[in-house]
Amino acid sequence: MLSDPGGRPDLSVEHSLMIWFELTDGMTFSDGKTYGEVYVDSVPPIYFMNTKSISSSSRTLIGKCLCGAVQVSIADEFLYAGYCHCPDCRASSGSAFSAFAGIPKEKLQLTCGAESISKFRKNEDNVIHFCRHCGSWLFSIVRNGEFAHVRLGILIDDPSIRPSFHIFVGSKAPWHTICDGLPQFVGLPDDVSV
Ligand SMILES: [Zn+2]
Ligand SMILES: [Zn+2]
Repeated sequence: MLSDPGGRPDLSVEHSLMIWFELTDGMTFSDGKTYGEVYVDSVPPIYFMNTKSISSSSRTLIGKCLCGAVQVSIADEFLYAGYCHCPDCRASSGSAFSAFAGIPKEKLQLTCGAESISKFRKNEDNVIHFCRHCGSWLFSIVRNGEFAHVRLGILIDDPSIRPSFHIFVGSKAPWHTICDGLPQFVGLPDDVSV
């Protein structure tokens, strides 16, 4: 929506809560957490790196689109994960933000339905891959074509990584409140593009 609808969500749907997402918005669970500090400046890339997962995991994660036509296999070696509040992610997801994780693109394999994938070039460094049948946004190829930003919602399996930051908080939905205490960035830190 381009204008603030005025109303605020007052109900969280819990029964299908993803394992990697901790409900902390204080509406259903009141945990007393404070709001995160908003970072105006960018930070060194290493800040996001999940160095533990780089060498320790040999797991493979399975993901699929809503209709199941497209399936992917991804090494459980994401280097960073976060929440993006930019208007593009809101529009494409129809929700307050998107949860994504970054990995070198060769760690992602299409196991089914390559012919069902359509691409949308959002900008010169971001090609979105989505299912042409059901519209699920699966991943974006970014950072000079070298990285995949996977939408965590497509994963059937639980990744080792957890989202650790919020980006584009400066343009987040006014009807959404961030309450999880993770670092917040007004825009984009140097090392992440979505
Ligand atoms: Zn689909
Ligand atoms: Zn975004």
